[in-house]
Amino acid sequence: MDKVSPEERSRVMARVKSENTKPEKTVRSLLHKNGFRFRLHRSDLPGTPDIVLPKLKTVIFVHGCFWHRHPGCKKASTPVSNADYWNRKFAGNQARDAQNVAKLQEAGWRPIIVWECELRDLCALEKRLTSLLRRRV
Ligand SMILES: [Zn+2]
Repeated sequence: MDKVSPEERSRVMARVKSENTKPEKTVRSLLHKNGFRFRLHRSDLPGTPDIVLPKLKTVIFVHGCFWHRHPGCKKASTPVSNADYWNRKFAGNQARDAQNVAKLQEAGWRPIIVWECELRDLCALEKRLTSLLRRRV
């Protein structure tokens, strides 16, 4: 059994997540390298997207596979202890993500999700992002 409560563990993990901005930085430098202009963390948009490309009316979320439940991803495992707690928490995250995507689309934005594990293959990620973004130019 875990000695820390699920709430405590959740708090610790959330802190780890917000401090670990490396995936986001990597995506930013990849966009920059390809000549895309962007803004960061526009809190006036649903879900405060990590990266906003105003000219392309596109926003990018860099999602952790664990928190945001990347479908079929090994990193999206569920902790064995307190499974009910985690499942509720994950369901909440997923519902919020889906709502944000819907609201953004209604407002004319195109949301793109980059999964943390995609950063293991930067060539593939670069190709995917640049082709998505260029399609709109
Ligand atoms: Zn993943």
